[in-house]
Amino acid sequence: MRFDIPQLTQGIRAGDRRALSRAITLIESARDDHRDLALHLLDALGQDRQALRIGLSGTPGVGKSTFIESFGLMLTGQGMRVAVLAVDPSSARSGGSILGDKTRMDHLARDPRAFIRPSPSQTQLGGVARRTRDAVRLCEAAGFEVVLIETVGVGQSETMVAQMADLFVLLLAPAGGDELQGVKRGIMEMADLVLVNKADGDLKAQAMRTCADYAGALRLLRKRAQDRDGFPLAMTVSALDGAGLAQAWDRMQELVAWRRDTGVLAATRADQARHWFREDLRTEMLALLTRDPELQARMADLEAAVAAGRMTPALAARAALAPLRDD
Ligand code: GDP
Repeated sequence: MRFDIPQLTQGIRAGDRRALSRAITLIESARDDHRDLALHLLDALGQDRQALRIGLSGTPGVGKSTFIESFGLMLTGQGMRVAVLAVDPSSARSGGSILGDKTRMDHLARDPRAFIRPSPSQTQLGGVARRTRDAVRLCEAAGFEVVLIETVGVGQSETMVAQMADLFVLLLAPAGGDELQGVKRGIMEMADLVLVNKADGDLKAQAMRTCADYAGALRLLRKRAQDRDGFPLAMTVSALDGAGLAQAWDRMQELVAWRRDTGVLAATRADQARHWFREDLRTEMLALLTRDPELQARMADLEAAVAAGRMTPALAARAALAPLRDD
C-alpha cells in the first residue's frame, strides 16, 4: 500500500473522512517504513486543533453502543463533528472487533458529521495504546470536536483510556439488590461521571436506586485535584429514549470548562504527554534492543535461563543490557 503524506495531510486538514481512515490504517501498520511515514504525517499535521476527548467505559450489554449512537447523534445534531474510536484488547482474541458488527451505531455511522473507527486487532495493549493515541490526534487534526474513546470494562484498558482522555465516563446498568455490580474500585476512581443507563420503563425505579447507591459510593472516594465541587457525580440516562443525555452533556461541559479555567486540563494533558513519552521511550528502547541480532540472541538465551529457573528475571534483565553499559 502506498501512502502519499502531503496528500493525506491535506485531506485530513480538510476534514476528509477517507483520508482520515487511510491515515489510521497507516498508523496501525506494524511495518517500520509505515511507522516512519506515520511519524512524518503526525508531525506535519501539528497539534493546533484539539478535541474534547471523552473516555467511555462499561461492561458488554450496559448499552455503550446505544449510548454512543444517541449521544453522538445529539452532538452532530447540534452541528458538532464527532469521532468514535474503540479500544478492545479482547477483540484480538475473537479476531474481530466490537465495532465490526455492522448493526452497531449504524445511524451515527451514516452521519456525515461522524466518524467511527473500530478497534485495531492488536494483541498487545501497548500497541493499542499508541495506535489509539495517534488515531485521536488524527481525528483532532481532521477537525473533530469530540472524540469518544470507547472501551470494554476489563480494567487495564480503562486505565489506558483514562490516560488519554479529558473526561472519563462510566456507563452502568440498573442493578438488582444493593450490590454495586462488582465494579472495580479502581475504575470507579477514574470516573468523572457515572451514568446509570436504561432508566426507562420497568427499569426506571431500579436505575434510580442504583444511581443513588453510586452517588453514595462516589462521595466516599478521596477527592482528586481534578474534581470540581459536585464531581464525580452519578446520574441516570436512557440511551434508548434519550432521557438525561442533554443533562449529561451539560455536566461534561461544565466540568471541562472548569478544568480549562483552572488550568487543570492543561496540567492533565501535560502529565499525560509525559506519561506517554516514557511509555514510548520504553517501547522504542526494547525495539532497538531486539533489532540487534547479537543482543537478540543474548536475550533469547537469558529468557531460556529464566524460564528454566537458572536465573532470576531481574538478574537476567541486567545481564541482557550488560553490553550497553561501560561500568
Ligand atoms: P454494549 O454491549 O454496551 O454496546 O450494549 P448495547 O448498546 O449493544 O446494548 C445492549 C442491550 O441493551 C441492547 O439490547 C439495547 O437495546 C439495550 N439498551 C441499551 N440502552 C438501553 C436503554 O437506555 N434502555 C433500555 N431499556 N435498553 C437499552
